[in-house]
Amino acid sequence: MVELFFKKKNFYPDDYQKTVFDVDFARLKEKGIENIFIDLDNTLIPYDISEADQKTLDLFEHIHQLGYQVFIVSNNRKDRVKLFADMVKSRYVYSAQKPFKSGFRKALKRVGNPDPKTVCLIGDQFMTDVLGGKRMGFYVIVVDAIKRKNEKWYTKYNRHLEKKILQRLKRTDHEFYNRLNLQEKR
Ligand SMILES: [Mg+2]
Repeated sequence: MVELFFKKKNFYPDDYQKTVFDVDFARLKEKGIENIFIDLDNTLIPYDISEADQKTLDLFEHIHQLGYQVFIVSNNRKDRVKLFADMVKSRYVYSAQKPFKSGFRKALKRVGNPDPKTVCLIGDQFMTDVLGGKRMGFYVIVVDAIKRKNEKWYTKYNRHLEKKILQRLKRTDHEFYNRLNLQEKR
């Protein structure tokens, strides 16, 4: 089981929000966060959409206005990630290979290798975003996937593992699980 290879705490996000639009970016600033790393697929757009809508454009303008360094960190291919990142005027790392560290390290290097504690990572998957982000020492917010229907086979497999992790979390750390207030559908 893959979870045995990683420390249990690396599967614990710091916060849960239903969508990226529910994240209080001004409050993160008060927590000492200076960099926002954000996943693309099913966090910002579903797999069958490639462009940012007006609501998302407005959100990124708000995040930039707060003075954050913003990176889209995605495991997807360059053309898809670049198209979206350009629309929201943000930098990006494609083929990031989350949960491995290389993609995150690339983004960190490009913002001058700040303290990982100043980075907030937002994503929808436990096996890639939460695990990868916690291994880096980031502050991690998990959100609900926008639309699971078009997920690829390997994401479906990750969801299967995720389900097991969450079942264990619920069983062994009920208080933490409740505090996260995760949706039961996970
Ligand atoms: Mg995703």
